[in-house]
Amino acid sequence: MVVRMRRNRSETAKRRSHHALKAQKLATCECGALRIPHRACPECGKYNGRVVIDVVARTKREQRRAKRRQAEQPQAGAGAQTETKKEEATTSA
Ligand SMILES: [Zn+2]
Repeated sequence: MVVRMRRNRSETAKRRSHHALKAQKLATCECGALRIPHRACPECGKYNGRVVIDVVARTKREQRRAKRRQAEQPQAGAGAQTETKKEEATTSA
């Protein structure tokens, strides 16, 4: 770096004086829950007094996905469980 372009500590500190993180501002929804401003409420799915997210359908969808994930996982989980059972059997015998 060219000496002419070198920043001293004072200039670096002045630039970084604006780098601090600010706390998230929260607004209160009409349903009473706290929500991020300019975002739909995750509790009731409303934005600007209008329902934009079908909360019931979303929870159902998430439950369905969770169930499917659980159905997929036991293949690995069951194998591990049988291994532990075998180990227990060997330790007890
Ligand atoms: Zn709400």
